[in-house]
Amino acid sequence: MGRFHRHDDGTVHSHDHEHTHGDVHDHAHGDHDHDHIGDHSGYETGSERIEVLERIFDENDAAAARNRAALDGAGVVAVNVMSSPGAGKTALLERTLADLGAHVRFGIVEGDIETSLDADRLDGHGAQISLLNTGNGFGGECHLDAPMVHRALHGLDLDALDVVLIENVGNLVCPAEFDTGAHHRAMVASVTEGEDKPLKYPVMFRSVDVVVVNKIDLLPHLDFDLDLFLANVRAVNPTARIILTSARTGEGLDEWEGWLSSLAPSTVDAR
Ligand code: MG
Repeated sequence: MGRFHRHDDGTVHSHDHEHTHGDVHDHAHGDHDHDHIGDHSGYETGSERIEVLERIFDENDAAAARNRAALDGAGVVAVNVMSSPGAGKTALLERTLADLGAHVRFGIVEGDIETSLDADRLDGHGAQISLLNTGNGFGGECHLDAPMVHRALHGLDLDALDVVLIENVGNLVCPAEFDTGAHHRAMVASVTEGEDKPLKYPVMFRSVDVVVVNKIDLLPHLDFDLDLFLANVRAVNPTARIILTSARTGEGLDEWEGWLSSLAPSTVDAR
């Protein structure tokens, strides 16, 4: 099965890389009017396929609502943390747990296709950790969806937590398309990735509340144009909070950690 995704307007958009059909894509809109769906020459059952995809998203959204209700019922705020592989999500979360762990009761949903490598790195800071390998029963998916997060939340005692951080699978495309039930979305973008990424992956950059620009300690060694990158972020997301950090040196982490702390003010103040 090829991959698929949904735009902000609810449009389902599918690609099937097993077929060659140039830049022709299938579109179906939320009103279920399929008359204007594009060329299906690459598919035997195009409109049925789109209906299946819409149902998958509908089921995901229902599961996300249940996740959110469970989190709300326990007074827990969840943040879906996304990025491409290697941008520094785990390093950022390691520092976050070390710095805030005494004040905020963190739960971690660690999403990876395989291995417990990142979960192991985050261990030892007092956080509850629930590992979800998508290669274990979820087809090795390139993202976390709401049913996966539902499974993972069963591994956490929500009543004993303030904030759940969901470390999504490293991928700049798929994770943005699935509501996990988290209240907030943040992404980590490394300065090693290039200034063009907000324009090339607008769905991700548009989907988040916070853009953490990480590895800024490397700026003197790169040709990266930070101003151009920030302008590109603003072009696709005028309102996201932008935080410049180095998870390695600790620069800028106070702002990120201040934002996280502010998500659960009552519990943080009480401790
Ligand atoms: Mg990681």
